Amino acid sequence: FADLTLAPELCHVLSGLGYEEPTPIQLAAIPPLLEGRDLVGQAATGTGKTAAFALPVLQRILLEGERAEPLALVLVPTRELAVQVCEAIRSYGRDMGARVLPVYGGEPIGRQLGALKRGVDVVVATPGRALDHINRGTLKLSGLEILVLDEADEMLDMGFAEEIEAI
Ligand code: AMP
Repeated sequence: FADLTLAPELCHVLSGLGYEEPTPIQLAAIPPLLEGRDLVGQAATGTGKTAAFALPVLQRILLEGERAEPLALVLVPTRELAVQVCEAIRSYGRDMGARVLPVYGGEPIGRQLGALKRGVDVVVATPGRALDHINRGTLKLSGLEILVLDEADEMLDMGFAEEIEAI
């Protein structure tokens, strides 16, 4: 991970989690993502895709420091995945205090409003609820630098194309 030029703060957390070396998708995806390039990644479930996009997002947050508006938006097809991806990013960003918020339909909007107001670095959201917040002006995208479409094929299968286009 250090050879991929990931920051010591991140490498330290990864060794604590028992990650000894990057998986193939991480080896392929992390360098171009650290350069800020666009990327389409495809790999089987359970091969480490979450860290492949999460680590470059966290490195960008480390480099840029505290900001008022989210730097990254991760769109996911389901609330279960929103919670799971959010927890993964939080665990990788533990040492740097990254603020990661899951935003999904079916949860009272008030809790999400409070957290958004206090400031978050990464929002992990289902497309419908993300669009709802964007339209209310409670999720501001003017500071956004990174957009991730996690399980993009699944989101399209579930009929989220219109929301994703709008976002
Ligand atoms: P994912 O495909 O992102 O859902 O990750 C699948 C599982 O692999 C998760 O439990 C991760 O914590 C774990 N994992 C991801 N990257 C690595 C790695 N480089 N070494 C060991 N385990 C990993």
